[in-house]
Amino acid sequence: MKMAGFYDESISNGLGWRAVLFVSGCPHHCPGCHNKEAQDFNYGTEFNKQEIIKRIEENSILKGITISGGEPLCKENVTEVVEFIKDVKKVRPNFNVWCYTGYTIEELMDRTDEATKNALEEIDVLVDGKFKEEQKDPRLKFKGSKNQRIIDVKMSRNIHKITELAI
Ligand code: SF4
Repeated sequence: MKMAGFYDESISNGLGWRAVLFVSGCPHHCPGCHNKEAQDFNYGTEFNKQEIIKRIEENSILKGITISGGEPLCKENVTEVVEFIKDVKKVRPNFNVWCYTGYTIEELMDRTDEATKNALEEIDVLVDGKFKEEQKDPRLKFKGSKNQRIIDVKMSRNIHKITELAI
């Protein structure tokens, strides 16, 4: 997997201070994509997991990690993304995990592969759905268009109902 970028700390990609990994490659090709170059699976640099984990481990300000892209949960990236989240949690067990995806949670729940199932177990908050230019609203917090949802994945699973975070 290649990565399009990494922020050691950010407060604009989820609640609280977070590290942010942007993976390369996205099959959705949304018109108006905010990160068009990251649609290419060969864009960016080789993902050096150990180096990124070391940087996270050394940064005590962080409360969580956000995985963005590109598309973290496409079939090309999902396995490596899940392994990365699990390895991050070995050094930061209390980390809160956000993930941006162009898929809806319903589409992800319909998948039968182990990697996607594991992803939905490891991710706390999923910002789901493609970016839709006609529903773009710069006032939205942590998302680009009105169709996207900021979903509390664990709560949704517990009460068997898609539940959005109140932000
Ligand atoms: S899902 Fe995100 S990265 Fe992929 S094309 Fe749409 S806006 Fe761009």
